Amino acid sequence: MEQPRRLTGKIVIATHNPGKLEEMRSLLAPYGVEAVSAGDLDLPEPEETGLTFAENARIKAISAANATGLPAFADDSGLCVDALGGAPGLYTARWAGPEKDFYKAMSQVEEGLREAGAEEPEDRRGFFISALCVAWPDGHVEDFEGIVEGTLVWPPRGPAGFGYDPMFQPDGHSRTFGEMSGEEKHGLPPRGKGLSHRARAFIALAETCFGAKFD
Ligand code: IMP
Repeated sequence: MEQPRRLTGKIVIATHNPGKLEEMRSLLAPYGVEAVSAGDLDLPEPEETGLTFAENARIKAISAANATGLPAFADDSGLCVDALGGAPGLYTARWAGPEKDFYKAMSQVEEGLREAGAEEPEDRRGFFISALCVAWPDGHVEDFEGIVEGTLVWPPRGPAGFGYDPMFQPDGHSRTFGEMSGEEKHGLPPRGKGLSHRARAFIALAETCFGAKFD
């Protein structure tokens, strides 16, 4: 079996989403890798034609690695709501429309929940998922996945974070992601709890690609 590959030096973060870029940068900062973004390098955004989050993460990482000759790190993520049959799922970003209006996207989730008669918290379950992929220019790839389960609340609460954060209350907490600091949402152990889907996927990545240990 091929050994996991360690990540050192300069890497490309294959995202054009400033919210995700900021989270990824702060996750990578302790490992001494120099992170440049696909946006800074003006890389084209490949079409996300995968049928799973993991496939889409691979498409973005491989495209950026091939375009730059550097190892590339990409994520694909989304929100899956049980009562909506897993929607918005792969279409999570698209529900916000070209104007990236996440209040509209959250309202659409709420409308779907109402149509499904989902009033009680136990009927309003969902999860965020993050698939991460690191691709090297020689074709080697490593894949990781993390999820965080919670309840969809209405009205949305809190100004922090991005996307659907204000309507997502993670299990074991009484505040939404929109009401949490970045450190609380995606801080890693020992200081943070590794709560977010991206943090959880990133812990798996850091253990493999940086030899990190989390207790
Ligand atoms: P992607 O850029 O294709 O991965 O799309 C991800 C979509 O899921 C975007 O619309 C994000 O707003 C949403 N999303 C992913 N992670 C989070 C999160 O941590 N909080 C809120 N929304 C998220």
